[in-house]
Amino acid sequence: MKNTVKEGAVTEDTVKEGTVTEDTVKKIFIAGEWKLGGGATIKSHYPADHSVNAEISTASLDDINEAIEAADKAWRDPSWRDKLPSEKSAVLFKAANIMEQKKQFLAELQTRDNGKPLAETFALVSSAIATTRYIASSLETLDNELTNQRIKALMTFTTYEPLGVVAAITPWNSPIASEIQKIVPALAGGNAVILKPAEATSLIALELAKVFEKAGLPKGLFSVLTGKGSVVGEEIVKHPLVQKISFTGSTSTGRHLAHVAADKLISTSLELGGKSPTIVFEDANFDIAVNGVIYGIFSSSGQACIAGSRLFIHESIYDDFLDALIKKTENIVVGDPEAEGTQMGPLISEDHLNSVDRYVQMAKGEGGTIVAGGHRLTGEAYDKGSYYAPTIITGLKNDAQVCQEEIFGPVLVVIPYSDEETLLGHANHSIYGLAAGIWTEDYRKALHIAKALEAGTIWINTYKKFSIATPFAGYKESGVGKEKGRLGILDYMLTKSIFLNLDETPNPWSDPK
Ligand code: ADP
Repeated sequence: MKNTVKEGAVTEDTVKEGTVTEDTVKKIFIAGEWKLGGGATIKSHYPADHSVNAEISTASLDDINEAIEAADKAWRDPSWRDKLPSEKSAVLFKAANIMEQKKQFLAELQTRDNGKPLAETFALVSSAIATTRYIASSLETLDNELTNQRIKALMTFTTYEPLGVVAAITPWNSPIASEIQKIVPALAGGNAVILKPAEATSLIALELAKVFEKAGLPKGLFSVLTGKGSVVGEEIVKHPLVQKISFTGSTSTGRHLAHVAADKLISTSLELGGKSPTIVFEDANFDIAVNGVIYGIFSSSGQACIAGSRLFIHESIYDDFLDALIKKTENIVVGDPEAEGTQMGPLISEDHLNSVDRYVQMAKGEGGTIVAGGHRLTGEAYDKGSYYAPTIITGLKNDAQVCQEEIFGPVLVVIPYSDEETLLGHANHSIYGLAAGIWTEDYRKALHIAKALEAGTIWINTYKKFSIATPFAGYKESGVGKEKGRLGILDYMLTKSIFLNLDETPNPWSDPK
């Protein structure tokens, strides 16, 4: 383990609160207390060399029940429930300030957890801080609504109330950002949150528990229950007191959680997989498009649901564009995620690397040609970790398995197109509909194509850019519900409409003539 995190941890709030040490099993945050969970322990590994960052306890069934029951009491407690929005916002602003103070540490810890380059994990922490401040501000401006009168003697208004206990289930690829994106609007809506992070990124989730504890969030409103999804996650979502599942992860797990939610008749917000098309038109600004396409697929080593993994290039510029793409791809700096200048770090694990490689081998079987990468990286800098070369595949049809399934790795498939109709047919031929990229200098055409693409987020002459103010949602099997946006808090609230009679005459219906 490198010194940075260890030193950071030691200068943090002390070891007993569950920071990174090599020699103790980490406690978890159950109902406002740091405890050793009763489940089997798991290990957090540094993907760059597979060394052990920490051993972490996980939640037992008793721990899960304790956390959820405490959560249910906590959100109902008038001392929190009746606080003014400004008072609740103050706690959230404080949490944002604490994250700001620990920014470097949080970025380093995340890099240890998932192997993303520091520049990326730093950006994720910045996003988490900005999200927290934005939602805290939105809470202050969230008004109940006086609705239009349809009958003179009635005054009607609508209020918003907490759902209760929210289960937040998160993946390992952008942990702090996706966690805050759920936790903060849910807390702002007056709910309690049970966070079940991905096993690989439990450390950063436990740091968030410290952040909210320090910010003064009442005990029980937030718990972090580590452990296996199929065991701990499953028990949490099935618990009768859990009123919403907010999930980011694979489409298969999302589908399963939708069934669980359907049985309980509770709401979900599911942010799932993608196989996003990127389209380069003949009039695109060549250099801007090349750089944008490369960033869209290879940043985060392609481990992003929004990765632009299917590239369509107009046939008139296909050869030149592909050549430029290959050259730049071969120059991508892959290596130590903690080193300055690294563009791509390792993949999260050996299992995941093997899965990515299986797709690349499958592409060959489907008639594809590997024009860049296509293999794991070896040599002194790579042998201890799970590094895969950025890979470009040509010669496949859009309906090939490799063009249809989410690989979640640094693998780009490239397909030429000649006319708009075929292009749109191919781009939309996918079970997914998360995002899409358009590269052209013609904004009329860009908007026309944007409208025709079946995806929740469209980037024009840019890619992988986000704003907390802008809702994020998937079409088709990429998701259900949305996150972010000024009114995102309402996704974590119930709606109550109140009718007030101003008429002083008795209801004539009850007085038969
Ligand atoms: P990934 O392939 O990114 O790991 P998953 O969908 O398997 O995607 O995991 C995302 C999150 O969902 C993780 O926190 C994981 O532990 C959790 N999870 C997996 N299976 C279940 C389940 N049956 N119930 C609840 N959570 C689950």
